[in-house]
Amino acid sequence: MSDKFREECGVFGIFGHREAANLTYLGLYALQHRGQESAGISASDGTLIRAVREMGYVNDIFDHDAISSLPGHVAIGHTRYSTAGESKLSNAQPILIDCVHGQMAIAHNGNIVNASEIKDRLVSQGSIFQTNSDTEVVVHLYARSQAANFAEALVESVAQLTGAFSFAVMTKDHLIAARDPHGFRPLALGRLGDAWVVCSETCALDLINATYVRDVEPGEVLVIGAGGVRSHRAFPNAKLAHCVFEHVYFARPDSEVFGQSVNEVRTNLGRLLATQTGVSADVVVPIPDSGVCAAIGYAEEAKIPMRFGLIRNHYVGRTFIEPAQSIRHFGVKVKLNPVKSILAGQRVVLVDDSLVRGTTSRKIVKMVRAAGAKEVHLRISCPPTVSPCFYGVDTPRRSELIASSHSLEEIRKYVGADSIGYLSLDGLLDAVGPRRQHYCTSCYTEQYPVAFPRDEKAFLQLTLKLDGTPLPLPEEEPEGVV
Ligand code: SF4
Repeated sequence: MSDKFREECGVFGIFGHREAANLTYLGLYALQHRGQESAGISASDGTLIRAVREMGYVNDIFDHDAISSLPGHVAIGHTRYSTAGESKLSNAQPILIDCVHGQMAIAHNGNIVNASEIKDRLVSQGSIFQTNSDTEVVVHLYARSQAANFAEALVESVAQLTGAFSFAVMTKDHLIAARDPHGFRPLALGRLGDAWVVCSETCALDLINATYVRDVEPGEVLVIGAGGVRSHRAFPNAKLAHCVFEHVYFARPDSEVFGQSVNEVRTNLGRLLATQTGVSADVVVPIPDSGVCAAIGYAEEAKIPMRFGLIRNHYVGRTFIEPAQSIRHFGVKVKLNPVKSILAGQRVVLVDDSLVRGTTSRKIVKMVRAAGAKEVHLRISCPPTVSPCFYGVDTPRRSELIASSHSLEEIRKYVGADSIGYLSLDGLLDAVGPRRQHYCTSCYTEQYPVAFPRDEKAFLQLTLKLDGTPLPLPEEEPEGVV
């Protein structure tokens, strides 16, 4: 099991290109890191929206025939990791419906925190839900809307939502992009010749040679059609709460999110980490790939050489045959291998971007010691993660977050390092630049910027995640991949 927060979803949309589905496929390829459970594309030729959705990776699902079955000049796509709702095909997106406003398809990144409340209301009024995805509530609100046209119906529907959402939506002749008023999740707008593109991260624009225009504004509903682009405001201005974890871990370093280069922010996190938690050492080693940018910054600031002392096998499939228990730590070894010539006899600073349960870090520290390291100092380029996320990120329940119930010294002992150091919250916010008050930091502070609509205990997802009893730390934890 991965000891990381799990990415959320990636969305992509394009209007005005005769190869819309093909470009959406490429866009999803660039966004694959944001979700690997299922993917889908819907496309319209102006008369009919067609869709292909499957479980699996983008390149497993879409071959020439699948793309050819999606003709047209408008398309949206989605790559999913389930944050609300089970992982199964019926929850894969885009969701496609036909209603009084015509056909509509929707792809969502985020988590609608009042989805259960809206769903209960709609069910009591006769609605029948087909999935347990929070996104389906938007579809029902849209279908029931009495508004005069699809754009007004969508604005009216979106305006009833609370939480985190970046949407790519299409009708048979329009592309719509919408973002929650807090701007939790990124959503960029770009141009490719005369075509318009929206996507979760700018790395998808780069892949198709599109140009970044601007971000879809928090609270904005952008309707793109043959008549041009129209911007609607669905919400009054609200306090911004961009997810700081996009910079820490989720987004690709070659993307710009929330107006900042992810690579620059992440490297800065490493520089500040070195300033705050410096230690005498011979070599800085990133835990690949997540720790690389921060390790570069750390090494630069600490003036200690950085070397790749752990090599990642990028070709490990999603499934591999587990060996007998007698081969210890196989799960880590299949993905990471230490370079003895770099580690033996050295005082090593191991840098990673985050520490969630601590189980994988413990195995890696052990592996680095076994390779001959004299000292191992673990450095984490964000603050201790103490509370779960409810805004579109799959996090373990609070009791599984090691920092929620253990002191720094207890964590150090558990992972087996000679020392441990985290970046402070101030350091994290310094690294994201002057607009520090525009970020959500709830997983480090337990201060949630968007209130939950019900008593927390009554909201199943919250009840599951907020259970307060700390789990005992496993001495010899079950095997799992990094
Ligand atoms: S709680 Fe953490 S992961 Fe969730 S939106 Fe806020 S910063 Fe991002």
